[in-house]
Amino acid sequence: NAAPLGHNVIPIVNKLQDIFAQLGSSSTIELPQVAVVGSQSSGKSSVLEALVGRDFLPRGSDICTRRPLVLQLLQTKRKPGGTDEEYGEFLHVPGKRFYNFNDIRKEIQAETDREAGGNKGVSDKQIRLKIFSPNVLDITLVDLPGITKVPVGDQPTDIEARIRTMIMSYIKLPSCLILAVTPANSDLANSDALQIAGNADPDGYRTIGVITKLDIMDRGTDARNFLLGKVIPLRLGYVGVVNRSQEDIMLNRTIKDALVAEEKFFRSRPVYNELADRCGVPQLAKKLNQILVQHIKTVLPGLKTRISSALVSVAKEHASYGEITESKAGMGALLLNILSKYSEAFSSMIEGKNEEMSTA
Ligand code: GDP
Ligand code: MG
Repeated sequence: NAAPLGHNVIPIVNKLQDIFAQLGSSSTIELPQVAVVGSQSSGKSSVLEALVGRDFLPRGSDICTRRPLVLQLLQTKRKPGGTDEEYGEFLHVPGKRFYNFNDIRKEIQAETDREAGGNKGVSDKQIRLKIFSPNVLDITLVDLPGITKVPVGDQPTDIEARIRTMIMSYIKLPSCLILAVTPANSDLANSDALQIAGNADPDGYRTIGVITKLDIMDRGTDARNFLLGKVIPLRLGYVGVVNRSQEDIMLNRTIKDALVAEEKFFRSRPVYNELADRCGVPQLAKKLNQILVQHIKTVLPGLKTRISSALVSVAKEHASYGEITESKAGMGALLLNILSKYSEAFSSMIEGKNEEMSTA
């Protein structure tokens, strides 16, 4: 029951890490981080949760996310025959393992209140949470407070500017993938998400448009033109999703149920039939996975160069001792060979995938 995000990337990364381990190097592939942006209550936390496949983030119709949550997913080894043990650990509660994901949500809420107060205050001080699981990819996700315009509760008068500065500090990093979340029941031309993402990533190389709440659009309207990029074009395109409503949350509907309901929703709406590759959380995960695979492909030659130059210097060092230990150099060459072969196979696999995509 793997998390949707990273599903087909995990085996690739694992294989590469095995190769590095054999080389005695801890060199791993650093994956880009993924941040969600958008206006308040657009569904950002809901999208992140659906991607992770677990319930643990505060969500709601009011302001819930009031501090940046940096969520580090860390893959643990699967225990042979054992059950998949998943738990969370907060930086501010060292040494304590949270096995119950409802307790994780409660702790996020309590820690938000500690720093930002109980009355809608917002703080740019991060909450750092690690989730350990055999089913995840080592990747960092960032849940950010939404853009609001009118100060409420304890918020300062310049709340909008403050939140925008906070969001920009994350998404301006060239290594950050941006999920720009806009609800389908508002006009895309008014989207805070697309506006701020456009500032951080003007060429759109790292912005994916996510349209939420397709289920509560005005009667007689649909999101077809949004999803086709006819309203605001986006290089990486859009994915439409249906997450849980406030009522679903109050009734404790699970993520699994929500995914089933989402699929049913899209199946029952003929307008979305021909847009199947742009509809649903699994498609969003697939899109992200393809971008991650592309990223790995880009960094692979650099890793190869690093390994071969390490090999050359090891060989030189051995030669300088006056005796070349066949076995070690031979082993290095063998591993380099494996890596080259793997990277070739990998490239052709990707090209195959791309063909498949463009003919689809
Ligand atoms: P955030 O403020 O952007 O993080 O938004 P949340 O994820 O907290 O969601 C805000 C509210 O919208 C919650 O009550 C969710 O249940 C609801 N919501 C989110 N996505 C959808 C959706 O696709 N359909 C419906 N009907 N409600 C949604
Ligand atoms: Mg939120």
